[in-house]
Amino acid sequence: MLELDALVLDADDTLWENNIYFERVIGQFHDRLGHGELKRAEVRLRLNAIERRFIASDGYGVRSFSMALAAAYSELAHEPPDPEAVAEMSELALAIAAEPIELLPGVRETLAELSRRRRLVLLTKGDEIEQHNKIARSGLADFFTEVRVVAEKDARLYRALPAELQSAPERLWMAGNSPRSDINPALTAGWCAAWIPHPHTWVLEHEPLAEAPPERLLRLREFRDLLRYF
Ligand SMILES: [Mg+2]
Repeated sequence: MLELDALVLDADDTLWENNIYFERVIGQFHDRLGHGELKRAEVRLRLNAIERRFIASDGYGVRSFSMALAAAYSELAHEPPDPEAVAEMSELALAIAAEPIELLPGVRETLAELSRRRRLVLLTKGDEIEQHNKIARSGLADFFTEVRVVAEKDARLYRALPAELQSAPERLWMAGNSPRSDINPALTAGWCAAWIPHPHTWVLEHEPLAEAPPERLLRLREFRDLLRYF
């Protein structure tokens, strides 16, 4: 068994489905917009850029996404955009917050067992109220000794957390689906990491996985594989 002080877990697309709801809404956005001379892939690139802009000013979450989608519709529609359609885009996005929490396979049983063995910390980025709401609805909160919702998961955060968790970085493991938010910045800050890929990881989280020796970086197939190491 590995020596560690805490196993820190990501939430969205690690514990439960998240990005599929956004992708569904983006599909509806494409249909409503029609393609015109811009192809779907080009529209998507423009939307990604607009999303990044809103993330920079308003953070992650459904509210920021709804503003990005409405703005993208206004920018990309051929004719002067129909205000009703713009409002509809915004509402489609906001409705994501009401989607049921769909746990990924094996998550509940695995956390139940892991929580008997280890100190588990939940670390998720996004809108504070929205993320706390999801955690409450997931029914998983009791498995964690603490829950942290942060604005961004970057190397600066992973450098600051060990002191707060009263641990040394090398005695902390971060597990999650996103190379950009969970794995690479944690490794940069001296943590160890376990990557649990999700086939529908958000495009803005894509990044090549950093190189690290196997004792610092585990590549797992699914969530329940954590039980083999922790
Ligand atoms: Mg995630």
